[in-house]
Amino acid sequence: MKTLAILGGGAAGLAAAVSALRTSEGRVRTVIVERLPRVGKKLLSTGNGRCNFTNTDISVGHYHGDTRFAERVISHFGTEDAVRFFRSVGVPEYVEDGRVYPMSESAAGLLDALRAAASGAETVTDFKAAALVPPKTAGGTWRILSESGAAVTADAVIVAAGGRAAPSLGSDGSGIELLRGLGYEVTRLLPALVQLKVARPSVAALKGVRVRAEVNAFSGGNLIHSERGEVLFTEYGLSGIPIFQITAREECDTVTLDFCPDTGNGELLDELTERKDIFFTSSVEDFFAGMLQKRLGNLVLRAAGIEKLSRPVSSFDRGTLERIASALKRLEFRVSGRMGWENAQVTAGGVRAAQFDPVTMESRLHPRLYAAGELLDIHGDCGGYNLHWAWATGVAAGHAAAHTLEAAGK
Ligand SMILES: Cc1cc2nc3c(=O)[nH]c(=O)nc-3n(C[C@H](O)[C@H](O)[C@H](O)COP(=O)(O)OP(=O)(O)OC[C@H]3O[C@@H](n4cnc5c(N)ncnc54)[C@H](O)[C@@H]3O)c2cc1C
Repeated sequence: MKTLAILGGGAAGLAAAVSALRTSEGRVRTVIVERLPRVGKKLLSTGNGRCNFTNTDISVGHYHGDTRFAERVISHFGTEDAVRFFRSVGVPEYVEDGRVYPMSESAAGLLDALRAAASGAETVTDFKAAALVPPKTAGGTWRILSESGAAVTADAVIVAAGGRAAPSLGSDGSGIELLRGLGYEVTRLLPALVQLKVARPSVAALKGVRVRAEVNAFSGGNLIHSERGEVLFTEYGLSGIPIFQITAREECDTVTLDFCPDTGNGELLDELTERKDIFFTSSVEDFFAGMLQKRLGNLVLRAAGIEKLSRPVSSFDRGTLERIASALKRLEFRVSGRMGWENAQVTAGGVRAAQFDPVTMESRLHPRLYAAGELLDIHGDCGGYNLHWAWATGVAAGHAAAHTLEAAGK
């Protein structure tokens, strides 16, 4: 009997195992090699423990990197395919704003169902692959070697070891390095879906403040992305889904927040003039009472050039109100970088996908070597797109590898 080894027991690796077992109906031995004591650890943390496993709008605009390759893959595996796959392992779905979750809203339950569906595979845990040795002759066996020299041999290998994001959950980039060692080209790696660090103004005092805003990101003065949603201030910078979506794209140097995106400048100035009448006898630091949290209001006032917060609102002239309106529409932050791999949800960049076939995920350089999941140079927006990518590529690779080995074993 031929053996298929799946390197990495994460989302893509488990999907590959289920797909290979179904394709071969047990006629191909399937072995999952996992460095941690259990498979699927990262899945437990996804979607805040609810696992947002796909989206009702799986389209290429939500993917970044080699989008031509991504388009080919998702044209064969869209939302319906992901939903059908999960129903087939016993997980009905629940949809919220286009985001698809298991009906139980439990990532642990989804993992249990996946593990049950993959139970026909052998699992070798606590095995960190340190080398991947190709066959010496055509049709020979692959060897996966651990750091301690233990070996798993197989007739075909699917590398599904993830990217560099969230290394405490298992993926430290070693899968990417294994493929680099075999001569595969790797694009620049960057943490993505992660918080932004802000150089100025200091936001440390705003830690914990949440606000709804339109976030605009710029690079060299050019707008690169605009997104509305809830922004969270952290000790070092900005977080929240709109910020994560910005970090799925190219690097930015400036972010502006518009707290009144549906109100034009003139209308906002009228509203602030009315506000001046309401708070006429109050001190300036109460000017935003009921509109913005006080710490955020103070930052807006300082951005408008008002340093003395004890002065009365009655002292505001039209020029001051104009400056406040402009700060409310465009509060600017200089970005100093992104938080690191430990905080990131995905890896931007990876092994060049074009070195693989988008239908079978088989390597164009080595027969019977396949790749799936985040280790490729494609990542998605926040919203279920990255797990969808893992299922789509994992199912394709598992099916193709099992089919090839079954045919070779006859
Ligand atoms: C906190 C958090 C929340 C997220 N939430 C969502 C969400 O709700 N929706 C969504 O779409 N995406 C989400 N993501 C992203 C998503 O989880 C990943 O993109 C996806 O898990 C990638 O799947 P993968 O199988 O390619 O890699 P991984 O899931 O990282 O799996 C790789 C596996 O390979 C193992 N491995 C690595 N190196 C080796 C080695 N050398 N030898 C042996 N084994 C190895 C790892 O231990 C791991 O088990 C989230 C990510 C994080 C960190």
